[in-house]
Amino acid sequence: MRLVFLGTGGSIPAPNRNVSATALQLASEMILFDCGEGTQRQFMMSSASFMKVHKIFVTHFHADHFLGIPGMIQSMNFVGRDKPLEVFGPSGMIDIMRSLLRIGYFSPGFDVHVYELKAGEVVKFPGYSVEAVEVDHNVPALGYVLLGENRPGKFNLDAARALGVPEGPLFRALQQGKAVKVGKKTVTPDMVLGEARPGLKIAFSGDTRPCNRLIEAARGADVLVHEATADSSLRARADEFGHSTAEGAATVAAKANVSILYLNHISSRYEDTAVLGEEARRIFPKTKVVEDLMSVTVRMKE
Ligand SMILES: [Zn+2]
Ligand SMILES: [Zn+2]
Repeated sequence: MRLVFLGTGGSIPAPNRNVSATALQLASEMILFDCGEGTQRQFMMSSASFMKVHKIFVTHFHADHFLGIPGMIQSMNFVGRDKPLEVFGPSGMIDIMRSLLRIGYFSPGFDVHVYELKAGEVVKFPGYSVEAVEVDHNVPALGYVLLGENRPGKFNLDAARALGVPEGPLFRALQQGKAVKVGKKTVTPDMVLGEARPGLKIAFSGDTRPCNRLIEAARGADVLVHEATADSSLRARADEFGHSTAEGAATVAAKANVSILYLNHISSRYEDTAVLGEEARRIFPKTKVVEDLMSVTVRMKE
């Protein structure tokens, strides 16, 4: 699993930061969280391809989070996409997509399915689910928490050998949860596997003030991607516009006990983001301020 930070700037594009978009490459598909203007070009400069996007989750309808959708769909069409695209977002998403797809002399040659999610709703997909979390912005906005299915427990080699299981296909069958025959004995997975381990958990804040509902939903996540529009000297202003400071985002990460915090939605006022990283790391040491086109491997807890 890999996260590609395509656009890490807040509100308006800057020379070194485009507006919001983060791609998550899972084993089976790519999911895009927000799609600000110019996201398709960010894809071209990154290691990921917009043609691989299966689903887009939009956090809210400020322009810096969704205006990249129509252009990207037109380009997908131009290069011959035939696979459907699914777009999820808060209430109003269907109307907005209808308008976006009516721009110019254009209709896509592939299906675009649009879904509106309610706060607290969990949508299930093969292998994972996504929860829509109502966050605290100055317009209705959702954060998203992706939760992978539980993984099988760790394979106990010594136990398997002691039971006389030969290495190879029988090991694999047991790891996949199937019972196997060894001579006249049956060896079942619970004899050689530890307890099931939780699946991948990644939380995306979208635009929000520090928010208790997100803390609850993100608890124990492997990764939290949280907005940090400003540093704490601008806290009152950040709060007024429904945003978080780096310190506020770090407090959310600490309370939610996540493994790592990535800060995005950085205001164009910061050419040097050291102040953001430093104030966040005082509260939550495992913090990184992300840059456009940065790609990171997501590591799950053992
Ligand atoms: Zn924004
Ligand atoms: Zn916003």
